[in-house]
Amino acid sequence: MSEMIRRSEISMLDTARHFFDQAANLLKLEEPLRELLRYPKRKLIVTFPIRMDSGQVRHFEGYRVQHHPVLGPTKGGIRYHPEVTLEEVEALAVLMAWKCAVLNLPFGGAKGGVKCDPKEMSIPELERMTRRYAAEIAFMIGPDVDIPAPDVYTSEREMAWIVDTISMHHHGQFMPGLITGKPKILGGSEGRDTATGRGGFFVSLQTLKQLKMKLEGATVAVQGFGNAGAAIAQYFHDAKARVIALSDSRGGILSNKSLDPKAVKRHKAKTGSVVKFKGSDSIINEELLELRCDLLIPSALENQLTKKNAKKIRAKAVIEVANGPTTKEADQILHERGIPVVPDILANAGGVTVSYFEWVQDRAFDFWSADHVDDRLKEFMDQAFQRVWEVHKKERVDLRTAAYMVAVRRVAEAARARGLYA
Ligand code: NAD
Repeated sequence: MSEMIRRSEISMLDTARHFFDQAANLLKLEEPLRELLRYPKRKLIVTFPIRMDSGQVRHFEGYRVQHHPVLGPTKGGIRYHPEVTLEEVEALAVLMAWKCAVLNLPFGGAKGGVKCDPKEMSIPELERMTRRYAAEIAFMIGPDVDIPAPDVYTSEREMAWIVDTISMHHHGQFMPGLITGKPKILGGSEGRDTATGRGGFFVSLQTLKQLKMKLEGATVAVQGFGNAGAAIAQYFHDAKARVIALSDSRGGILSNKSLDPKAVKRHKAKTGSVVKFKGSDSIINEELLELRCDLLIPSALENQLTKKNAKKIRAKAVIEVANGPTTKEADQILHERGIPVVPDILANAGGVTVSYFEWVQDRAFDFWSADHVDDRLKEFMDQAFQRVWEVHKKERVDLRTAAYMVAVRRVAEAARARGLYA
């Protein structure tokens, strides 16, 4: 991930718990299981010193949260951000748990983070911090225990440092399966870099089909032009849909033709933003969200669709590529207005699914072609969509509630079968 900047007062943890409680009520989940699954199993806070290039020593705070390893090892990214908190990491670990369960992956949820400003740090400082953080959490990381991956402001470079550091803690034995999102030379998978956008695109195709809408000519507005947003925009453009609007943190662009994401990328590389792309009109981010279009694809930040703008959304459906872009109040309003919202725990699960493929390949030392990864990703995303759509129809609930019901039911079933170790 590259350039994510944000923050907000709305608690993602409250939102995640609200959706869990709703599903647990509908599933009539017994109280002990509800208690177990509502809270994570482990929350670790570490503080550690790093020598900066200036010679000064600074202390950093890092986190790792594991939900429950009921279905298998826990899995989730590591985020670097000045405002990352234990609560945010917990919320994201919980989201990962439900995401893995919707996709039928043999993982629980986890997340990690370090409170730091990577934009203000040199590469050697980042390397020292990453290795020291990895050493601090190493005792709870491993291919059978907990498997990190990249998240905001971390990339394959940090994953390589982490796999090296933790392997060193195991007598230097190289253990590629302990982390995903690595460089290919270290056992990374084909297709990992575009997996979230690709998975979101497959889910969008299923959504269009169910809503009896055509892909060709469908109008699409994408908020956020980073790793996930730029990839999904490209897939729509290539499929002859019309990408009518794009945005980044500096503003948005609008066109009545399809914006070509490759050309927009070149423009952004030169100017630092999508704004002022040739042949486009400028819009502000709020306007993008309220455009009349077939699909609105928030791919930037959490809490973008709120009670303030939910009544003004004119998209026919929303595909949540970002984590937590819709508040619970907005979710209710959109549901009442009959606008389907394909939830994050389904729509952005392509990334963790290809991470799962990477873990499988690393453990078997058998590496797949890009086409094979793509075929299997489609299979996993389509099946997950079908599971959610069936519950949505059968139980007459919105897609988010249906996805949570699928996820919570699966984890609860495994926890019930394992029983209580007391
Ligand atoms: P990124 O940092 O690569 O891109 C984020 C984009 O959002 C940037 O273009 C940035 O300029 C833009 N942005 C920031 N503030 C904005 C604003 N106010 N309005 C409009 N755009 C704004 O991050 P990413 O990896 O693409 O992740 C985006 C979202 O997708 C996050 O919520 C992330 O958690 C979620 N997600 C990503 C992945 C993945 O594999 N990359 C997987 C699952 C979920």
